[in-house]
Amino acid sequence: MSIFTRKDPICGMKEEKGKGILDNINWFCSASCKKQYAAKQQKTKGCC
Ligand SMILES: [Zn+2]
Repeated sequence: MSIFTRKDPICGMKEEKGKGILDNINWFCSASCKKQYAAKQQKTKGCC
């Protein structure tokens, strides 16, 4: 058991073992949440 429970940054769902997608530091309940997160990251990085 880990002390640290990950959460989907998009929908807020708690990590379920054996489910979802694990990124470097983030867990996503589904591919669509991962996609949304990636899109967000790109926007914030953006341009100057
Ligand atoms: Zn999600």
